[in-house]
Amino acid sequence: MNLIFLGPPGAGKGTQAKITSKTYGILHISTGDIFRKAVADRTELGKQVKEIMERGDLVPDNLTISLVKERLTEDDVKQGYILDGFPRTVLQAEKLAEFQRIDAVINFRLSKEEIIRRLSGRRICSGCGAIYHITDYPPEVPGICDKCGEKLYHREDDKVEAVEKRLEVYNKQTEPLISFYRKRNLLYDIDSSINPENSEQQIMKILDEINK
Ligand SMILES: [Zn+2]
Repeated sequence: MNLIFLGPPGAGKGTQAKITSKTYGILHISTGDIFRKAVADRTELGKQVKEIMERGDLVPDNLTISLVKERLTEDDVKQGYILDGFPRTVLQAEKLAEFQRIDAVINFRLSKEEIIRRLSGRRICSGCGAIYHITDYPPEVPGICDKCGEKLYHREDDKVEAVEKRLEVYNKQTEPLISFYRKRNLLYDIDSSINPENSEQQIMKILDEINK
């Protein structure tokens, strides 16, 4: 089973990818992991990526596609995989379709208000990195980590204006991809507003249906 997970920040896509990967015995592959592995394995493409990342530049579309292609020819993906963070553009999706059969694209849906609520309420410990949420998962003493007693901080990236910007970029990039896969009857929407257990059940229902 070859899957793609699409979802905005805060929708729990990474968490669900881990769970699905375990449940179905398929590999969870994020673009970041592919880049790191190619660099560690010192493949030709890995050397190119290393130079680009060291310069602080974005890895171009063509190189990303080649890296994904290289990764998806390895033995450990024969049982299937979940792509997380790829494709990001229609060009990448078209190229992927040339060499891989995709069985389903799971699209995590969450309202803008809920994304902002989840991300902007997040607080991180400056000492141990533990993650809290001001209403969903508050520390016992406001602003202080339960585990190590250090101060919690609000990441710049999680402030309302920054979240709105991230979402704008996400929607602009992803809308065309959603249409691309919807046209090919591969897109399955899930409502990820309730809780992780509920998202998991929705995904299992879709995948069990596909596997019939
Ligand atoms: Zn802490």
